[in-house]
Amino acid sequence: MSDFKGLGLIEPVQKAVAKEGYSTPTPIQVQSIPPLLKGRDLLGVAQTGTGKTASFVLPILHRLVEANILPSRKAPRALILAPTRELALQIQESIVCYARFVDVRGVVVFGGVPIGKQIKALNAGAQIVVATPGRLLDLMNQGKIRLDKVETFVLDEADRMLDMGFVHDVKKISAEIPAKCQTVLFSATMPATVKKLADGLLIKPVEVEVTPPATTAERISQRVLFVPKQKKRTLLSEIMKNEDITRVLVFTRTKHSADRVARHLEKSGVRSGAIHGDKAQNARQRALKGFRDGKLRVLVATDIAARGIDVDGVSHVINFDLPNEPESYVHRIGRTARAGEKGEAISFCDAQERGYLRDIEKAIQQAVPIDEQHTFHAEAIAQPDEDPPKRGGGGGGGRKGGGRRPQTSQGEKHKGKGHRAKDGKRHGDKGHGGHGHSSGKGAGTKNHGSKKTNTQKAAAKRGAKRAAKRSS
Ligand code: AMP
Repeated sequence: MSDFKGLGLIEPVQKAVAKEGYSTPTPIQVQSIPPLLKGRDLLGVAQTGTGKTASFVLPILHRLVEANILPSRKAPRALILAPTRELALQIQESIVCYARFVDVRGVVVFGGVPIGKQIKALNAGAQIVVATPGRLLDLMNQGKIRLDKVETFVLDEADRMLDMGFVHDVKKISAEIPAKCQTVLFSATMPATVKKLADGLLIKPVEVEVTPPATTAERISQRVLFVPKQKKRTLLSEIMKNEDITRVLVFTRTKHSADRVARHLEKSGVRSGAIHGDKAQNARQRALKGFRDGKLRVLVATDIAARGIDVDGVSHVINFDLPNEPESYVHRIGRTARAGEKGEAISFCDAQERGYLRDIEKAIQQAVPIDEQHTFHAEAIAQPDEDPPKRGGGGGGGRKGGGRRPQTSQGEKHKGKGHRAKDGKRHGDKGHGGHGHSSGKGAGTKNHGSKKTNTQKAAAKRGAKRAAKRSS
């Protein structure tokens, strides 16, 4: 089953992926497409970059064509819910590509732009609607779309959806979808909150999981630069003098910082744009387009805004701020070295971020090489102030290749809020970096206990209803 034909997809869909230059399905596609073609529910753990979009879009197209479903006004047969406008747009772009040789239309709706055009597009008819939750609810409330004909419901990036506070919206939307529809849930991570949501929505799902391909990580050369916080911007300008850095994504923890960094770079003559949740939709699209077209050399982004952005040829990823969640680091650096190319990931680490680096190294099971060859190298930051926490009796502090950094208890006082306490958990992160996007994660995982949220209750109810319907 090493090609798309072997997966059982209809010929025009195979032809479209061939035209896109895909010769072999990715692991997530190999695992997901056959059960989805059979109408099974699916729970997928996969990140952007794994080919997950095609893994649910291709079966949707196949099934629509096989059933000879024509575009209809206001009543789509497939609904794909995405947390951000950028991701929704990218899914729609994929649909257009993959549906090149079939008569299937997709319409994308998202907030932040006038609603009129979207209503017109829905009226013109489509089989698939891609939507962000808020705008979809608006359209539902205005009677511009009905969900009673939906046969496939996809929730993409469910973890982000919950992080961004869309739980109630998702609940309201899923309540309008027929009980017997095929439901697919993809998430980059599977915290208990997402698992509970999935338990309520999915019936006997096939479970698939792919970790980001190791080969990608191998093609990314990583390094960390220890630098005092107040020198980061100047260091960035220095680094940008390297002409090999052709297209770079710079990550900051806060929206405010993203703007400041972009402005600073512009002032030093580096064409830059910023995208984050506070920017108007067209400003975000303009920045993204400028970056894609090569007019902007730098795009500064926060984690949430960058989710779902798929730009080819990113030569470098720079972590201006280290993320406080290791998985965000993996996500970020995965933006370079796409499609077999090489890439570089450069991370700035200030005194407060030392604990974040330690967590990242543990998660990726490798030490990030230190680059001391820069003007602002801060040895005091490079020296950890405490032994790395011991893990499960394994010793060695959980870092492979240990001994690379001198372990000292006398180094600079670590006042970082993200260091680990004896229980191995991170404490005191609250408030770090102000309004960092990833802070939502903590909120998202607050519901781990036995107490069910309303969404979970509703989802469980809906699941039971669906199960009863299916077995009857
Ligand atoms: P996604 O994870 O859906 O965001 O996809 C990441 C990138 O992989 C996109 O640029 C797709 O065009 C590309 N892609 C998806 N499937 C394949 C495949 N089978 N072979 C090569 N590239 C692919």
